[in-house]
Amino acid sequence: MRCCGLVVLLFGCLSAHASNLEESLRKTTASSLRDSCDIELLESKLEVARALDSRADDLVKWLEEHPQGDPDFTLVKLGPIYLKERNVPLEPEYKWTEIWKDWANVIARYRAIQTQPVDQRWITLAEDVQWLVSNDYRRLVDERNFGLDEQSPDYLQEASAAVDSCLANPQCSRPEWSPRTAEFLAENRIYSDILGSEQSRKAIEILKRRIQIDLKTRYNFWRMSNISRVDANTWSVPMYTHEFAENRDEIAQRIMRMWKSATEQVIIRWVDDVAPENFRFIADLSVGARPGTSYPNHTVTLTNEMFATTIAHEFGHVLGFRDRYFEIWDAPRCGYRSRANGADIMSRSRSGTVVQYHWDTLRREYQ
Ligand SMILES: [Zn+2]
Repeated sequence: MRCCGLVVLLFGCLSAHASNLEESLRKTTASSLRDSCDIELLESKLEVARALDSRADDLVKWLEEHPQGDPDFTLVKLGPIYLKERNVPLEPEYKWTEIWKDWANVIARYRAIQTQPVDQRWITLAEDVQWLVSNDYRRLVDERNFGLDEQSPDYLQEASAAVDSCLANPQCSRPEWSPRTAEFLAENRIYSDILGSEQSRKAIEILKRRIQIDLKTRYNFWRMSNISRVDANTWSVPMYTHEFAENRDEIAQRIMRMWKSATEQVIIRWVDDVAPENFRFIADLSVGARPGTSYPNHTVTLTNEMFATTIAHEFGHVLGFRDRYFEIWDAPRCGYRSRANGADIMSRSRSGTVVQYHWDTLRREYQ
């Protein structure tokens, strides 16, 4: 699952690879960040993971034999995968909404079907478990900060400035921040663990580094060396098709019609050589796999039955944009809230579009 710890923190691995679920869960057991429910539910979680691992091939087969029957979507073949295309596109709405997933729910659903053959319930179970394992792994093994959302940069900037001015003064052992920022830091497991009960200068230095990593990997634009600005309103991106060579025109059309406004556009330029800086498209056919873009590997992973518009979201990462959805660990309720904004392609890719801040950012970053 995902690329290894420090690489993730420094470079932001946005991609998820389906792999052995049980093995991934076992790796979380060494983490000091585990909450009580992580420990209490472990045996049941492992049991569900084992059950799905042993059915991985059956799940792929079942899905092949039972194409998605949702009347709101049409399945469109794209090389080795099918895309889910919404018959009536969703209206992009500027509103933050949340979905909730937790292990207790997933375990109960598993108990209800554990003796029954693979069917649609197993497929949705596999998708949810893949999502939960992926988040557990990133939270507990990669030590990614699962307490951040769209409001956090304001607090992080304030904390960062307070920490800098404290460290500049040899007498200072306690940064001064507003009550709101103090509350934000206290409620965030990663930061409150660093600060502990007393705020030593060493702890403040560690906090400074951690805040820098969180800002850099979660919020900051990642400028790519191979992207060029053709004219005032046009950017050109070289890409290598790899496993989707025969479908490159369709992929380019899907991306370019999203990354286009009345005046601006992004153009894909297909290249045949795999220069290390050029991203390439690969496929992951396992059930529950999430589409993703990996900066260390320069890959864009497309998955079976992904939403068609998510290709344009992944391409946003190729341009350097970060995800603008937030998965937040809720320890007392032992689950994850996933927050997204329906208007922004980098937030909720099934309804969002390319909006003004994307063009403003491209103009600023690629001159
Ligand atoms: Zn993404």
